[in-house]
Amino acid sequence: MRFVDEATILVRSGKGGNGCASLRREANVPKGGPDGGDGGKGGDVIFRGTNRLMSLYDFRLHRHYFARNGEGGMGRDRYGKAADDLYVELPVGTLLYEVTEHEDGTTSEKLIADLVEDGTEVVICEGGKGGRGNLHFKSSTNRTPRYAEPGFPGEEKRIRLELKILADVGLLGLPSAGKSTFISKVSAARPKIAAYPFTTLVPNLGVIENDDYTRMVIADIPGLIEGAHEGRGLGITFLKHVERTRFLVHILAAEDLNRDDPMDGYEMLTQELREYSAELGEKAQIKAINKIDTLSEEELADIKAKVEASGEKVYFISALTGEGVEDLLQAMWEHLAKIDAVAAAEVEE
Ligand code: GDP
Ligand code: MG
Repeated sequence: MRFVDEATILVRSGKGGNGCASLRREANVPKGGPDGGDGGKGGDVIFRGTNRLMSLYDFRLHRHYFARNGEGGMGRDRYGKAADDLYVELPVGTLLYEVTEHEDGTTSEKLIADLVEDGTEVVICEGGKGGRGNLHFKSSTNRTPRYAEPGFPGEEKRIRLELKILADVGLLGLPSAGKSTFISKVSAARPKIAAYPFTTLVPNLGVIENDDYTRMVIADIPGLIEGAHEGRGLGITFLKHVERTRFLVHILAAEDLNRDDPMDGYEMLTQELREYSAELGEKAQIKAINKIDTLSEEELADIKAKVEASGEKVYFISALTGEGVEDLLQAMWEHLAKIDAVAAAEVEE
């Protein structure tokens, strides 16, 4: 499942330092030759892809990226210092579009780069060259030029950043099952994403990080189920995106349980999915019962016994207190690893 994260920023490289116009002064030479040095180059703005970032959130808060100007040249043939380049790290997978504003107020944009892997670098704005000092302008007709070149301007660009986030896990559950609560409990990061294009709903994403820095992106899909297969709710196009998640975590809240047959609730939502798409109905599910903190010990024991009798594996959790959440997460990591192993084996064949 892909979501789009976006931000628009202004990027500017540094101006080149001015060349220096200076004439040598020596005790016994009244009018020495030119000795003005060149200005230093302005800093480039360079974008670099990194796996350490997961969202464009920071770029919506901090929108200006300006490199410094080069220093001016000086007398006695001294060059101005070039400015350091400004490196800006962006999540791997970010697409960069240059936005052009036209006279009539409209804008157009052009894809200029794609940060495909960790370490990919792209110079977005090149720093202006330094101006040449007057020692370059000496000629047979003008032995003492008083002219030096000014530094060259840097570039300025408006860039729209776009990142497609691929969700590994979809959270399935009725409204108020506790999907959002679960995401906030387990997430290391929560990318703020724009509303999905064809709905006003904003899916809620969470990024879970393992001790070895592997990551799992989970998506809480608001209103997934309410009439989705009939084209209501999030709509069929949205469900198509859900098909691309690798597995589902199906959460049932304690208050929605049929106490005589706790597995019944799972069947209801899965049936909804199946009516839309057989493939989605068959997608692997890890099942959890949430809000166990609201149950008495007896109620919980009774439900557990019935679940056990059904022969199905269900994780009992409280997204609120965190009870049982660690075991569920562990199962999610293991499931993901298993899918990866199968995929790797298929590639090898
Ligand atoms: P969603 O619609 O599935 O995203 O559900 P929410 O995460 O928004 O939760 C709905 C309500 O249930 C909120 O008031 C939560 O505080 C509450 N809730 C969620 N998880 C638990 C839980 O484990 N225990 C209790 N007691 N309340 C919970
Ligand atoms: Mg929610």
